[in-house]
Amino acid sequence: MSFVRTVLGDIPAAQLGVCYAHEHIIIDPSFTTLQNPDFMLDDVAVAVAELGDFRRAGGRAMVDSMPCDCGRNVTKLAAISRLADVHIVAPTGLHLAKYYEPSHWGNSCSETELAALFIAEIETGIAVEDYANPASRRPTSHRAGVIKIATGQKISLREERLFAAAAVAQRKTGCPILTHTEQGALALEQIELLRRHGADLRHVCLSHTDRKPDVAYHREILASGVKVEFDSAFRWKPGQGNPTLDLVVALMEEFPTQIMLGMDAARRGYWRHYGGGPGLDFLLTTFAGNLKERGVMDAVLAGIFTGNPAGTFQFCPGTEKS
Ligand SMILES: [Zn+2]
Repeated sequence: MSFVRTVLGDIPAAQLGVCYAHEHIIIDPSFTTLQNPDFMLDDVAVAVAELGDFRRAGGRAMVDSMPCDCGRNVTKLAAISRLADVHIVAPTGLHLAKYYEPSHWGNSCSETELAALFIAEIETGIAVEDYANPASRRPTSHRAGVIKIATGQKISLREERLFAAAAVAQRKTGCPILTHTEQGALALEQIELLRRHGADLRHVCLSHTDRKPDVAYHREILASGVKVEFDSAFRWKPGQGNPTLDLVVALMEEFPTQIMLGMDAARRGYWRHYGGGPGLDFLLTTFAGNLKERGVMDAVLAGIFTGNPAGTFQFCPGTEKS
């Protein structure tokens, strides 16, 4: 049976419910937060309150996207999932090099070593703390349900290894892949890299592509079979209109099973319970209303929020069983 691997265990994909496809629920003190103090999202009680608003608006699940060693804390994610009664998918993988100290192991590990680590986090469990601390390499019972990988301005050798390792881990475990694109760039290159390494593109989701709100670019991306996640709906400035809204409206009929939404709200300033806004329920309240005003039907919204995440983030049959 098809399942999604949440931080508290596997659930039938059909039970995932209304899901945001790219979130940051916890970012603990780390190199990331030293560089960007506003990225610090370390408070369990605040997260439970914010996810409470999301749940009251109909939300049931979130895919977290902070992978190994850049502020991830799987014990906190598990506690929040229990207390807020929201399914959380926890990631393995690695983020952009800029979120790590220059000497971080992610810069020197081989493709094989990276794949082995990702597979261990998917099959056995995620470590309590950063791998930078050798004393803390104790796996918890909380397993990773998605592999998060990223490219920056141009694809580096580190990123090539990372993408190859993610594809190896997916072929072994069936785990879905979530990518970061830098301002929407290099989506076609990411697809080509993953395809070359044998990834199942139906279980690959490219994030932030709506930063390049170009319909022809998206047709090319989506023709490959990958999924996309848009998260700039609340970021456009007055006078810019809402290109994310326009893009959903332009693409939905042609690609009804391939588009998802998220907040990617990796700053305190975006969370109501840290004193900011618009709050994590924005997509289910304001933006869902905006989509309906533009003629997007309820069945299409159900695909964006429920059917498409369930289809994408369920494990595919691994092709290389041991
Ligand atoms: Zn993100």
